[in-house]
Parts: sequence; C-alpha cells; structure tokens
Amino acid sequence: MPSIIRRLRRYGLGMVSVGMASILIIEDDQRIREELATRLSERGHDVISVGLAMEGVQSAVSGDCEVVVLDLGLPDLDGAEALRMIRAVSDVPVVVATARDEEADIISVLDAGADDYVVKPYSADHLAARIRAVMRRSGAAADDDTIEVGGLHVDVAGHEATLDGQPLDLTARAFDLLAYLAANQGKLCSKRELLAEVWRQPYGGADKTVDVHISWLRKALGETAAEPVYLQTKRGVGVRLVDPTS
Ligand code: CA
Repeated sequence: MPSIIRRLRRYGLGMVSVGMASILIIEDDQRIREELATRLSERGHDVISVGLAMEGVQSAVSGDCEVVVLDLGLPDLDGAEALRMIRAVSDVPVVVATARDEEADIISVLDAGADDYVVKPYSADHLAARIRAVMRRSGAAADDDTIEVGGLHVDVAGHEATLDGQPLDLTARAFDLLAYLAANQGKLCSKRELLAEVWRQPYGGADKTVDVHISWLRKALGETAAEPVYLQTKRGVGVRLVDPTS
C-alpha cells in the first residue's frame, strides 16, 4: 500500500465535508458564549449554546449536534468530567476551549477524548478553522478513504480519482500528490512539505520534481496555470487545492 494511503488512514482522513455544521457551545461566560454563537451563526452554522455542563452533556449525547465546543471551567461540573460523560456514550467531535494553557491539562483532556483544543483568548475564525478540521477528520469514520473537493472525488483506497464523474488518468505519484492536497484542501503546501510527505524526501532540495507533477496534475484536471480552478500555485511558496464551488 502506498505510504500516503497508510498515512491518510492513520490520520483518519476520509470523506471531507466542509460546510455548515450544527455546533453546541458549552460555555459559562455569557459574553464569550454570545459572541461565539453570533460569529459562528454568521458563518452559516447552526448554533446551540448553553452555560452549564450538565445541560451541555444532555444536549451532546442526544445527538443534536455535529461538533461540541467545550469550556473546561464550568460552574456545575468540571469540563474534563463533562467530556468523559460525553465520551462514555458519544463519538461527537469535541473541541475544548480552555484558559488553562498548562501542557499537562491539555494532554489530559486530549487523553480524555477531546479532538482538539483552543487556548483562550481565541478568535471565532480560529475556532471555526479548528471545527472544520475536526469535522473533516471525523467524517472519515462515516465514509472511509474518500475525499471530495467540489467536483473532485478521490478514492484513496481504490487509488482512483474522478472529476465531475469522469475518471482522471494519473500516474501513481500524481495520484498520491492529489490525495495529499485533497486531504489538506485549502492549505498552502510548500514544495518541501510535498517532497517530505508525498515523495518521502524531506531533504529534497530544489529539484523540479514537484513542479513537474503539479503541471501534470493541472493538465489532468483540464486547467492551466494562467486560469487555475482547483490547483492554485503561489510562486516560490507552494500549491493548494481549493474547492472552486465554495
Ligand atoms: Ca468558564
């Protein structure tokens, strides 16, 4: 099995759905709670917010939300305890929002089943990005090994990709490159990163391998550097795969 597939599997990357989510915010600070609810709603998310841990646990385990943002310092129950109660019955992704930046606390909540964490103070943009990331990862459990970006469908396990339903003719390495970029959609990936992650050459230097494969990939996708659609290159920096439909 190509290493990229093993690693995508290890990271739990699969069906990618990045869009609106129903988000449960468990946060006792009214100002933070209302501001987050407003900001995330403005981004099109469905937001439920509660100020007590027990309300939050009930709501989380009832299956009403796709992702939970959990404050750790809550008046009725410690957030870490609430997390354990949620985890006893639910796999819903949980992003812990904490003012406690001590490493030991962060490790303990990750061990207790948190999917990610943000340290206060954090922006709504930052939180929204973390939410997208945990949802991408959690989607893997539902539909393994398939990544969708707009009209692009990458079947990582089957080593096949289609664009608007049409199969793409790719070499094995170009496929691995596409799968890696798709798994990191929206993120600008440097050539060094691609050499390390796709070619397994962390000290690859300045050779043209990556450029050549990007240009093959671009051709397979039916686009040009002058008029990019999915593949956006930034000269001297790297390349990102974007969803042109979003
Ligand atoms: Ca608090």
